[in-house]
Amino acid sequence: MDTPHNVSLTNPNKLKRRGLLFVLSSPSGAGKSTIAQMLLKSDPEMKLSVSYTTRAPRRGEVDGKHYHFTDEATFRQMIEDDAFMEWAVVFDNYYGTPKAQVRAGLKEGEDYLFDIDWQGTQQLYQRNETDVVRVFILPPSMEELDARLRKRATDSEEVIEARMARSKAEISHWDGYDYVVINDDVDRCFNRVREILHAERVRRSRQTGLVDFVRDLMT
Ligand code: 5GP
Repeated sequence: MDTPHNVSLTNPNKLKRRGLLFVLSSPSGAGKSTIAQMLLKSDPEMKLSVSYTTRAPRRGEVDGKHYHFTDEATFRQMIEDDAFMEWAVVFDNYYGTPKAQVRAGLKEGEDYLFDIDWQGTQQLYQRNETDVVRVFILPPSMEELDARLRKRATDSEEVIEARMARSKAEISHWDGYDYVVINDDVDRCFNRVREILHAERVRRSRQTGLVDFVRDLMT
């Protein structure tokens, strides 16, 4: 039997909808990566947009899963080839979101999670305004942020200090986001972020199957 045209291809029990680009930004150490992992684990409809970066892998990071690790020459060539939805230089390294996977998935109702900084968020928003949901995570205090960065202990003192300095600059862009959540408790923060995601999914404009669904209801 053919799938009815108002029904999602990936989940026949659901109405067809357009996917969304769910951006999580925060200063380093505010807990964004933990929240991102929790979201990916708990939500089968959410996929991670895996960025390219020229920075070296940290311990435990897997090529193709956490990032596509590459060199500067390759990254520059990809910029030339217009292969990125957005890119930025962060801590002297290049970071960028490849276009290919996301563009195709959006139409099929796949959601993508972006762990990117404010510069990337601005670019993404300028180019895909109606598909983007921007969430900023704040630490409860700068002392707490400093403590979290030190606990991680995978970076040198110099890198930690540079990150602390940058954190203030990153925080100053909080007002370029649709939602702001303070991460004083990881479970509470996660629940807030999940509520935002669920609400954004049922926005009328995203539920592309609604018109036919309602028409069928009325007949
Ligand atoms: P890290 O090196 O700690 O993984 O990431 C450093 C910063 O780069 C974080 O703020 C992260 O959100 C940002 N970042 C990671 N991937 C991308 C990307 O593809 N584009 C942009 N603009 N920023 C990114």
